[in-house]
Amino acid sequence: MPEGPSIVILKEEVKPFIGKKIIKVDGNSKQDIQRLQGETIIDFKSWGKHFLICFKDFTVKIHFMLFGSYKINEQKDRPPRLRLIFDKGEMNFYACSVKILEDNLDEIYDWTSDVMNDLWNPKAAKEKLKHIPDTLVCDALLDQNIFTGVGNITKNEVLFRTKIHPENKIGNIPQKKLNELIKEARNYSFNFLEWKKQYVLRKHWLAHTKTICPTCNSPMTKKHLGKTNRRSFYCKNCQVLY
Ligand SMILES: [Zn+2]
Repeated sequence: MPEGPSIVILKEEVKPFIGKKIIKVDGNSKQDIQRLQGETIIDFKSWGKHFLICFKDFTVKIHFMLFGSYKINEQKDRPPRLRLIFDKGEMNFYACSVKILEDNLDEIYDWTSDVMNDLWNPKAAKEKLKHIPDTLVCDALLDQNIFTGVGNITKNEVLFRTKIHPENKIGNIPQKKLNELIKEARNYSFNFLEWKKQYVLRKHWLAHTKTICPTCNSPMTKKHLGKTNRRSFYCKNCQVLY
C-alpha cells in the first residue's frame, strides 16, 4: 500500500497534465467516469493516501487501497479501473477505488492533518492525541485523522528513531517524547519522499523488516500489534515502554 510520500511523487509525475483536456476515458470503474471526457484537469492534490484529480465542478478521488497501482504514459497487461487519454499521453489506475466528489474539497478534507502538507499543524495532532490516552502509539500513528499519510513503514521507522516502544499507551508517553514523535512523523515522511525518488528507500530502513537492531545488535522483535494489527518491528532494548 502506498504511503503519503508515494502519492506526492505521483502528484509531481503527472504535473504536465495540468491544463490538459481528456479526450477519451476508459476503465471498469462503476462510477460515471465518462463524465470526465472533454473535461480539463485544473489541478492535482493529495490528502495522505488519497490522490485527487481536480476539475472545475468536481473532483475524482483515487484511493490505492492495498493493491492499487498506476502507470503514466504506459499500460499494464490488465484492464485499468480508470484510463484517461490526452492528446499526448495517458494515465492508468489499477485495482484502486475511484470516486467522484461533488463537494468543495476544503469542506471534505482537513489539510492540517496531512503530515506532508504545508498546512500541517503539529499542535492539532497533539490535541487529538490527548483525547485517546488508552490508544497504543502504534495504532495512533496509523490513524489517518491524526497523522494523515503515515503508513506502516513510517510507523516502524518513527518509533525506532524516537526510541518509543510500539505498545506504549499514548497517555503514558512523556510530553517531550510525544512532541518528538509528532515532529518525526513529518520529518521521516520527507526523508521517505527523497529516498523513494532516488530508489534508496529500503537501504535506509533502520527497523522495518530488520532482524538485528542497528544500534545495539540485539535481535529485533516482529509482531502484529494493536487494533490495526499491522506488522511492527522494534527493539525491546532500545525502545522504551513507559
Ligand atoms: Zn536496540
